[in-house]
Order: sequence, then structure tokens, then C-alpha cells
Amino acid sequence: MRRVQVSAPGGSYEILIGADLLAALPRLIAPLAPTRLLVVTDSKVAPLYGTSVAAALQAVAPTAVFALGEGETGKSLAAVERVLDALVAHRADRRSVVVVVGGGVVGDIAGFAASIYMRGIRFVQVPTTLLAQVDSSVGGKTGVNHPQGKNLIGSFHQPSLVVADADVLRSLPPRELSAGLAEILKHGLLADADYFAAVETNLPRLLACDAQAMADAVARSCEIKAGVVGRDEKESGERALLNLGHTFGHAIEALAGYGHWLHGEAVGCGLCLAADLSRRLGLLGRPDVDRIQDAVARAQLPVRIPGLSRRDALQAMAGDKKAEGGSIRFIVLERIGKAIQRTVPADALDATLTAGGYC
Ligand code: NAD
Repeated sequence: MRRVQVSAPGGSYEILIGADLLAALPRLIAPLAPTRLLVVTDSKVAPLYGTSVAAALQAVAPTAVFALGEGETGKSLAAVERVLDALVAHRADRRSVVVVVGGGVVGDIAGFAASIYMRGIRFVQVPTTLLAQVDSSVGGKTGVNHPQGKNLIGSFHQPSLVVADADVLRSLPPRELSAGLAEILKHGLLADADYFAAVETNLPRLLACDAQAMADAVARSCEIKAGVVGRDEKESGERALLNLGHTFGHAIEALAGYGHWLHGEAVGCGLCLAADLSRRLGLLGRPDVDRIQDAVARAQLPVRIPGLSRRDALQAMAGDKKAEGGSIRFIVLERIGKAIQRTVPADALDATLTAGGYC
């Protein structure tokens, strides 16, 4: 089992990464001495893992299980209210703990519910998608979508523990696995050129869910994210670098209609657009742009999503909460392994969108 320590002002905790960790959950959660446990999962993950985890946790404290609907469309305030209802029905108190077993959607919803129930109770993340293991379960961002935009409502609430079991990734649909690889590629690109190169080499093993390759990648990605979050928990500076590819990605998700492209797929394409933009700013050379596109393609992610409207994309990106004072600040690559923030001239952005097949 590997351990990654997250030390943020809002809370310090461990990320445990390894095989067969679901079976160890009662032992890992018992030290939190919870009065009651509520396992929050989704309708797809419940029969796979959620229900059995809840049954095993009865040995630690009285445990109830609550399954939300599956998918991004249910990531709303209404879902938060249903989790709060379940906490009330289970008579959860301030020393109770929410255990999230699922992907980023349930993690964000249940984490937010935990952050406001009785002004904040503890929660444990048991991420079951690759994206959740390397990204959404770490760092304490919780929240839900508003009809006008993604993740507009939320809070910072650090988990008490994250348990990433490599075995659960074997049941993931291939598209979901690739979506997680987008965030792994992003971590290498923004912070660690050697890691990016290792991921490039290991892509076939990662796509085959090889346990060793997966544990290595999840651990390194968590280290990178933990480092950034520890230095800038509330995104006043460095944490924004984790949004590499995301300003483009969020626009793709919104324009194509939420749910059409998975978040990670949109990010994969967003990484290619960010690389192209970096070249137009005189930062990256074409060989590096080609190398990034090749890695994204080999991770079975889209490198180009043509046919979207350039005007709508610009509007969506200006409306993204990362836009400040009218000008759009982008995360671009100074080189592979180092991301920086830049305010981008409109003509460079326009050229990138045109080259990306926007019309
Ligand atoms: P998800 O939670 O919708 O899970 C994807 C699908 O996989 C769902 O259908 C789910 O039921 C299924 N699934 C989950 N685990 C499975 C398993 N082991 N086997 C089979 N099927 C399984 O999506 P996601 O990609 O995990 O997360 C995306 C969400 O995460 C987005 O809402 C995004 O905004 C959010 N996010 C949050 C942060 C953060 O810092 N909080 C960071 C990145 C992304």
C-alpha cells in the first residue's frame, strides 16, 4: 500500500493507494471513531461495491447506505438535499462520517452535503473511477452544478481519508478509464516531464488496467495534486495550474451539451488545444504539440472535436469562473512539465479554435 500525505490548512489526511483496500475499509475507518456512518454511492456502483462496503462497515458503527442516481445530470442542489435527508433519517450527529463510494459526481455531491450538514461533518472518499482517484477525491473541492454553469455552487471541505483501491478500476467502462488518463496526462504536462514520459511509455499497461502501472500513476498524480493543494488550497494562485486544458474542456462540455462528452474526454481535447495555444504564444515547439496530441490519441481520447461554434466557445470561456475582468487567463505550457498562467491575445485564441475545427 502506498501513502500520500495531503497537508492543507483546511485539513491534513492520507491518501491510501493499493490493491484490495475495500476489504480493509472497516480497519481503516475505525480510528475515526464515528458514531454513525452513511455510505453515499450511485445506482451503478451500489450493487458493485457500495452495498457490500456498507455491510462490512456495520462492524464499525451503525451504517446506512444511500444511492443517488448515476451521472452528471443529477449533480444538483436537489441531490444534496436528498443526501441531507438521508443523514437526518439516519440520525447522523456531528461525529458521524459520510463515506463516499463512487466517482467524482457522488464525491462532489456528498462532500458538499457533508460540508454543510450540522455546519460540517467528516467524510471519507473511496473513489471508484480513475478520474476520481487521481483528481476529484483529492483537494477538498466539493459542489454541484447550477443550470447556468458547472460547479457554480460548492465549498472547500477536505476529506478525513481517501482510499483508492486499484482493483475497482477493472469494472470501469473503457471510456471512463480513458477519461481518467486525461487527468494523469495533465499532471505530467503541468508538473513533471519525467512522469509524462513514463505515462507515455506505460499507456498500453494503463489501458489494460495493469495493477502496478496503475498504482504508480495514481500515486504520482496524487503526489502532484497534493503538493499543489498544500501550497494553495483555495486557488488563489498555483492551484489554477491544475486547470490546464479545463477552460477549453468546460466550454466543450457546455457547447456539446453536458453528458455528451465525458469531463475527461473534453479535458483530453482541451490539453491539445492548450498545447496549440502554447505554440502560438511562442512557448512550445511543434514537435512537443505533436507529442502531446499523440499521447492523448493513444489514451483513446479525442484530440479534435470539430463543428463547435467559435463565438459560443469564446462566450462560454469568458463566462467560465476562471475568467477575470473580461480577459481570459489561460493555463498554457512553458514546456512539457511546466504550466504557467497567461492572459491570451484574442487572435492567438481565435487561431487555435480555428485550427481545432471550430467554425
Ligand atoms: P462519475 O462519478 O459520473 O462516474 C462515471 C461513471 O462510472 C458513472 O456512470 C458511475 O456510475 C460509473 N462508475 C463509477 N465507478 C465505477 C466502477 N468502479 N465500475 C463501473 N462503473 C463505475 O464521473 P467521474 O468521471 O468519476 O467524475 C466526474 C465529476 O468529477 C464531474 O462532475 C467533475 O466536475 C468532477 N470533478 C471534481 C473535481 C474536484 O476537485 N472536486 C475534480 C475533477 C472532476
